[in-house]
Amino acid sequence: MEKTHITHVRDGFDFLGFHLELGISKNGEYVPKIKVPRKAVAEVVQSLNSAIRRRPQQESAACRIVRGSAIVRGWSNYYKIGHNFSQVAGLIDHLAFWIVVKALCRKFDFSTAQCLGRYARKGGISVGESCTLYKASNIKMLLYYRNPEPYVPGKTTYSDDLDLEANFQMYESKRRIGSMDFKMLALYRDGYRCRKCGITVKWETSQADHIQPVSSFANFAQAHSLENVQTLCRTCHKEKTYA
Ligand SMILES: [Zn+2]
Repeated sequence: MEKTHITHVRDGFDFLGFHLELGISKNGEYVPKIKVPRKAVAEVVQSLNSAIRRRPQQESAACRIVRGSAIVRGWSNYYKIGHNFSQVAGLIDHLAFWIVVKALCRKFDFSTAQCLGRYARKGGISVGESCTLYKASNIKMLLYYRNPEPYVPGKTTYSDDLDLEANFQMYESKRRIGSMDFKMLALYRDGYRCRKCGITVKWETSQADHIQPVSSFANFAQAHSLENVQTLCRTCHKEKTYA
């Protein structure tokens, strides 16, 4: 792509994922407007679909909602400086709500009505007493700002997100999580790094390894605790397994 792009000031241009254009203020003055582009909405919907709907059947609803919430929160914190953020936030919440409903219908083989009756409350969606899908409209628009950090979908781990960690700990203590969740929890706890060689990994490029072999426990359930699961990259896991 060309680095230099000449445009009419009213048509605006895209920069760091935002759309910048000339607007007219309430006093009739020309002011720069920073907008959330449609493309950014399409991208977050795609991320939400892969985080919530396109998951293994055995992955729990809570785990999907926690992951979806992290995406909504990260996205909103980046785009809250857009002049149209509050309208877009409402749209994102609507779309995210229905993505979760579709995922739950599919997972539990519910009809839409059954699913809404069971999980929809106060205009949001919750599983259990306190695992609620985060809302973009919880985040306030921010019109004073400087130098936003570029938002790269799927590349951020939001490891400074204390709410997310609290959620995980809650589900860990209740032991309500499905077996697939240990991989996600271990990945998060290990900071998205292989515990042996330290390389940065993603869900797709990592494997959950049993620290003490399953055969040394009385049964699989005992071996399969979070304390006994660690994140390894594929290479290290292979080396350990065939050592
Ligand atoms: Zn490794």
